[in-house]
Amino acid sequence: MKFTVAGFSNIRPSKIATRCPHCGKEAVMDPVGAHDLQVQLSIICGQRSCPNTTCNGHLFIVFDRVSKEIIAAYPPVKIDFNPENLPSNVLNTFEEAISCFANSHFIAAAIMVRRTLEEVCLERGASGDNLKKRITDLQTKVIMPKELLEAMHELRILGNNAAHVTAQEYNNVSHQELQAAIELTKEILKALYQYGSLLAQLRALKG
Ligand SMILES: [Zn+2]
Repeated sequence: MKFTVAGFSNIRPSKIATRCPHCGKEAVMDPVGAHDLQVQLSIICGQRSCPNTTCNGHLFIVFDRVSKEIIAAYPPVKIDFNPENLPSNVLNTFEEAISCFANSHFIAAAIMVRRTLEEVCLERGASGDNLKKRITDLQTKVIMPKELLEAMHELRILGNNAAHVTAQEYNNVSHQELQAAIELTKEILKALYQYGSLLAQLRALKG
């Protein structure tokens, strides 16, 4: 169906590459319909579908025509993440952190990152009457780089401060800070749950 809105103009859809929010694959999205809507000098609204034939997921997008930067998308485009081999409680909690981040809910994302660490400690049987002690105890149960264990303490503090209204500075927890927190959590989960399965895959291929 073709339509026009006063003050806006129809333009031909341009190519937009992004990660599909439905299947998680990077792709140049197919246009839906013959037109996008130009709502400001360089701001374009449109619809796209995933070219992956097993997905064909639909999304609404708002993007900058010049830079091709996506300003908003629905469903939101989530950070790349491999869920393989993660225990379900760890996976569900971390996926919630990623969803909060994708929706720009940074304080909630920081809290869910911390809770992901709680789930890791529980799953690995780390003991202690608070998370700081449980992370310290975790060091006796797993082998992982010192930097990642230090990162767990940083993420614990970030989530703890985000959860308390008295820590005013965390009312402004930033996109960059949470992006780094989520990337570090991905590395922690990879070291704990995914290196082993990658090695097993390689050995199986060698026969
Ligand atoms: Zn897709």
